[in-house]
Amino acid sequence: MSDIGPRPELLDRLAAQNQIYEAAAEGGDRWQVMAYASHEVGHHLVAQALGFKSCPELNVQLPGGLYAPGVCGFVGPLTPFRDALISWAGILGQCIAGYSPLWLADIAIVRDNLPPWRARVFSNLKKLSTPDIEGIIAPGFEGSCEALAEAFEISNGQRAKLESLVRVLADDAAQPVTNGEPQP
Ligand SMILES: [Zn+2]
Repeated sequence: MSDIGPRPELLDRLAAQNQIYEAAAEGGDRWQVMAYASHEVGHHLVAQALGFKSCPELNVQLPGGLYAPGVCGFVGPLTPFRDALISWAGILGQCIAGYSPLWLADIAIVRDNLPPWRARVFSNLKKLSTPDIEGIIAPGFEGSCEALAEAFEISNGQRAKLESLVRVLADDAAQPVTNGEPQP
């Protein structure tokens, strides 16, 4: 039984989906970079709150020279509930930081709005990554609503930290990639 969770083959699965972007294409759009950064930092903060070792990254190089826009790796004892907490935290972090995708942008992410917000996510679930979907609606798992509520409290309670880490991660991703070549 491995404690590396929940998705050791995450990079391969990202590569298998149409979630591959060339780094240069992403680097030109600050809003998009901030959206990806806030998504990954969202995962990271909740993973950390659960005691996991966690690291959010942007523009992650995949085998074959391709890039994923972002991933958040973490290691710790995983249960379906913890997986759901961390999985919800990506899209939650993105919205709390002010980078909601268009399909969620008309619902303010406040505690009283969680039921309609959740319903909107469920009706657009395929817009999330496969690992996030599988964490949110794992087969036989019925705690998804409770997990969202708890993930919201953790994320919303760390809003200032979320926003500052998002800037750090986005600024880091904006550094030019040298590829080992001397820069002009
Ligand atoms: Zn995610």
